[in-house]
Amino acid sequence: TNALARAESLIAVTPDYPEPGVLFRDISPLLADGPALRAVADELIRPFDGAFDIVGGIEARGFLLAGYVSALTGVGMLPIRKAGKLPRPAAAVSYALEYGTATIEGPDVLAPGQRVLLLDDVLATGGTLTAAQELVRERGAVVAGAAVVLELEGLRGREPAGDVHTVFTA
Ligand code: IMP
Repeated sequence: TNALARAESLIAVTPDYPEPGVLFRDISPLLADGPALRAVADELIRPFDGAFDIVGGIEARGFLLAGYVSALTGVGMLPIRKAGKLPRPAAAVSYALEYGTATIEGPDVLAPGQRVLLLDDVLATGGTLTAAQELVRERGAVVAGAAVVLELEGLRGREPAGDVHTVFTA
């Protein structure tokens, strides 16, 4: 659609951020455009219609997508946090970064068998999304699917993360 094409053009690209050699994609201008955001949200969830009970957003931009989809569909949302933000994390999963490790944590809100749709802005190496899938399963819930606004194909994120629905690729 028109709105989707415009949405893609609203992803800002910044070279050498946060470090030299990295081409950083920022969806802020897309988030700021109502029709573009609506089109992207509709496309994010299109393959999962009726197949999820709660939407999980990965800190921080994933929160914004999860909030929007929650309001669109009427399901609740699960904030998947960076380490150290939750008073009583119910689960924690650590994963490797290029340099060092990162940890994500989740609150104790998932019911056994609950179907979680995971959302994030960008799929890069797939480490974050793979850890989020593990976090959901560790709580006895089910990964209904995963969707991102932008997949950076060269980083091969779907090798660890599996089948990810992507709105745009770069
Ligand atoms: P991965 O774990 O390497 O797949 O990195 C994905 C995580 O890092 C997601 O939570 C993204 O928000 C963030 N990320 C990685 N690259 C970018 C980027 O170019 N722009 C915005 N976020 C990014």
